[in-house]
Amino acid sequence: MTSSSQAKKKKKEAKHSSLIVRWVSIVSLTIVVSFVIFSVIIYSTVSQQTLNQQEETSNRVIVTLNRQLSPISEKLQISNVVPALSPSTRRLLKGGPNIKDENDANNAFSDDLISSISNPDISVAVYNKHDEVVFTNGNNTPEYHAFKGDYHTEKLQTDDGTVLKSYQKIVSSTTNKVIGYIIVTNRMTYYNHLMSNLLRWMIIISVVAIIIFILIAFIVVRDVVNPIKEMSKVAREVNDDPNSNVRIRDFDRNDELGDLAVSFNKMLDRMQRYIDQQKQFVGDVSHELRTPVAVIEGHLNMLERWGKDDPEILDESIKASLQEADRMKHLIQEMLDLTRAEQIDVQYPNAITRAADVLKRVTSDMAMVHKDFNVQLDIDDLPEDTMIQIYQGHLEQILVILIDNGIKYSTDRKQINVSADVTEDQMHIIVQDFGEGISEEDQAKIFNRFYRVDKARTREKGGNGLGLSIAQKLVESYRGEISVESVLGQGSQFKVVFPVLSSKDVERLEGKNDLSDDSDNLK
Ligand code: ADP
Repeated sequence: MTSSSQAKKKKKEAKHSSLIVRWVSIVSLTIVVSFVIFSVIIYSTVSQQTLNQQEETSNRVIVTLNRQLSPISEKLQISNVVPALSPSTRRLLKGGPNIKDENDANNAFSDDLISSISNPDISVAVYNKHDEVVFTNGNNTPEYHAFKGDYHTEKLQTDDGTVLKSYQKIVSSTTNKVIGYIIVTNRMTYYNHLMSNLLRWMIIISVVAIIIFILIAFIVVRDVVNPIKEMSKVAREVNDDPNSNVRIRDFDRNDELGDLAVSFNKMLDRMQRYIDQQKQFVGDVSHELRTPVAVIEGHLNMLERWGKDDPEILDESIKASLQEADRMKHLIQEMLDLTRAEQIDVQYPNAITRAADVLKRVTSDMAMVHKDFNVQLDIDDLPEDTMIQIYQGHLEQILVILIDNGIKYSTDRKQINVSADVTEDQMHIIVQDFGEGISEEDQAKIFNRFYRVDKARTREKGGNGLGLSIAQKLVESYRGEISVESVLGQGSQFKVVFPVLSSKDVERLEGKNDLSDDSDNLK
């Protein structure tokens, strides 16, 4: 092998990809993408919801402080800010117990606010206009920087996670001037903890689920692909050696692949039979042709050597050669008939025939040709209008083969009975003779091509062993059946059964014929 062809082969092998790999990759990719999308949606929804809650907590502090501080008109100072906040707050901020004022609903330090500013996550600072801190809740004092508008919020990323920082301008309700700023930082420990936990669990669950799904996909795909692989291996082996007897093993599964394997094996068996038949046929044909050719050749040799001048030998040889040539012609015609009988579906799919007419015509023709025979026809039980689906010429051919055999293999009693009747939806035709009969062993073989019970005697009678094969092929092509009953020395009965057409079937097939006639005319 040259290096370039080797390289080509390698390239081809490299291109050949496995279905398992492809399918599992597609399934895995789909699962991974689905999980990522699903996780992102869940993560962002939970994050948004929790963030909103956290922002609300910060806002509540801002709103309440703003409400308490906005009535102040002068510059914000510790001295006016702290009194504005209730004494209980101060106490609380200094670690003292809370004094609840049940009557003051607007008390800035209702339980809600107290719990908010005593929350270690929340750092509150109130700045005055000169950037001086005038109030803090004791946690890390949030730093101030300039911001636009009355309210501003921002998310900052720190080492401890996301921090929410909110700014609010305090506008004096009396002077309408900005007197200071409230700044609230929310470290959102709960949020950060929740989100990092969620992320960790999502990754763990996703990885485990993806591995499980990929394993399941692998098992399922392998279960489908392995039988296909096996089938393709068998196909390759049969392709390499058409006579190979390898078949696909029984997969023991009741699905499409099981059906495919069964059909595949049936197809291989059929192909094998076909190949064997072809071989047999070619062998038989050459064997059959060899005898007449040898006879003709023998006569010609004899003539060449010394027969030319002897008118008797010349006459005999010419007669014998002509007889053999005629036999060959007959044989070739029969082989042609056999080949054609195998293609009937294509040629005459809609042909219909009135059986009684054909039976009458063929029996009277045969009676006329074989004057020494009594050919009887009994169609009393056959309705005149019985129609069967067959091309008329083929029904004639079947009858001629059967009657002709009856005549050929008759002995003393020169009588042939042909009868036909209909039971239910089937028509039976029986051709009976009283001749030599066929042994049970031979009855099983007479429909085989070239089979003759007594080769030498049949040859005398001009038989090639193809007549019954042709008849059987024709009958079966029209969904009929042919069978034989015979007793050696007493005679034989050949029975042909065809389905009878209902008047509806006749109308339908006639319609089709009209259509095809029209299209024939158009041609
Ligand atoms: P052939 O052209 O030799 O008659 P067929 O296929 O028609 O070929 O018949 C096959 C063989 O079956 C014949 O050679 C003959 O031995 C036997 N056979 C057929 N029909 C009859 C019959 N009616 N009576 C006895 N033997 C028969």
